[in-house]
Amino acid sequence: MTLIKSISGIRGTIGGPQGDNLTPIDIVKFTTAYTRFMSEKHGGKKLTIVVGRDARISGKMVNNIIEGTLLGCGADVINVGLCTTPGTEMAVITHHADGGIIITASHNPKQWNALKLLNEKGEFLSDAEGKRVLALADDESFDFPCVDCIGKVIKREDFNPTHIKQVLSLPMVDAEAVKQRKFKVVVDAVNSVGGVVIPALLRELGCEVLEINCNPDGHFAHNPEPLPENLTEIAEVIRREGADLGVVVDPDVDRLALVNEDGTMFGEEYTLVAVADYILSHTAGNTVSNLSSSRALRDVTAAHGGTYTAAAVGEVNVVTKMKEVGAIIGGEGNGGVIYPALHYGRDALVGVALFLTHLAYKGCSMSELRATYPAYFASKNKIQLTPDIDVDKVLREMKARYAGENVNDIDGVKIDFPENWVHLRKSNTEPIIRIYTEAKSQDEADTLAQRFIGEIKDICNL
Ligand code: MG
Repeated sequence: MTLIKSISGIRGTIGGPQGDNLTPIDIVKFTTAYTRFMSEKHGGKKLTIVVGRDARISGKMVNNIIEGTLLGCGADVINVGLCTTPGTEMAVITHHADGGIIITASHNPKQWNALKLLNEKGEFLSDAEGKRVLALADDESFDFPCVDCIGKVIKREDFNPTHIKQVLSLPMVDAEAVKQRKFKVVVDAVNSVGGVVIPALLRELGCEVLEINCNPDGHFAHNPEPLPENLTEIAEVIRREGADLGVVVDPDVDRLALVNEDGTMFGEEYTLVAVADYILSHTAGNTVSNLSSSRALRDVTAAHGGTYTAAAVGEVNVVTKMKEVGAIIGGEGNGGVIYPALHYGRDALVGVALFLTHLAYKGCSMSELRATYPAYFASKNKIQLTPDIDVDKVLREMKARYAGENVNDIDGVKIDFPENWVHLRKSNTEPIIRIYTEAKSQDEADTLAQRFIGEIKDICNL
């Protein structure tokens, strides 16, 4: 039973008492606050807001409450129904809407849902904007508009085909080259909206598609986070069917993980690395990912003569940094590809189309392509916070201890050693410290993580 209000939206479990869960009352309060904020921002003009949802079981219920609330607050609605996160973002841009609400709890289990809030560019609200929405959610002094001023539903449309067309018309997507390879692709979309859009996109690219978990009924067939331990079924099907690759997306289709022809993982971290390699091999430029992402992107960027910059964790931070340094490709190591030539949002459809073009041009297999990239191994660990652990003190002391090294403190503390790195940060959503390491072997990454877990305990006298 949880309700998490953060600057990036509101997230919670369905059912239970109001204020402790994502109940209808919480949804109304939060949607009202968002509409008030957008109205303030746009000088009181009549708003048009796009609403889209993933295939979660609670999606329609939450959608109906949000749509009704928007109308009651005087906003017009374009409802794109079952739609991916990147598709909803593109609908805001395409329709020149004033904002958007995406109904998805991303990779979280089925009892969760959430509202993600977009601005008029189809991008997530900034920290300051998110804070203003949270403040307005606690203010009950709002006067709702009168009967003549309530909003209307301007249109209901399936935006997914438009989004697919927009992806296919990118100059860097070579559909003809991909078609010639006649890739046989297994798709696992964990029974969410990816089960509709990813096979459709692949068929447009001339692929033979084998679907598993592609029925968008919201009954997730496995833990929906695209991590290797959750992807045993697709690995087996790829081997059995002699497929060229596997494509896995999370429930709202902003994360993309790829599987090799032998059932081994291409590695979620390497989705962005490979796509960036492709883009940079045709256009010189810079890249950005978050501090917890693989060093392989830095290496690949340097090999192409570009500059890599790290951003704080969180899509909005990555996007801000990308604009600042003029990055032509960026994203997150968790399979999130951001390609500004289409839009500033993680987009698995863009990832699939650019990746397959790259693989087609290379003329090799998945595992051969993977072998061309620097090999790094990650170790992802956490420590549960207790009253004995003073996170700020831990981070301060770590910074002092390693002052002679390359230290970045924009988000927790990241220490870049010549051969490996460690990133310590407090989670925004759970009472834990994350300890991520990366090194040239799994053993080295695990040993480095254990060493830092020991140092944290030492600082806290545990
Ligand atoms: Mg997601």
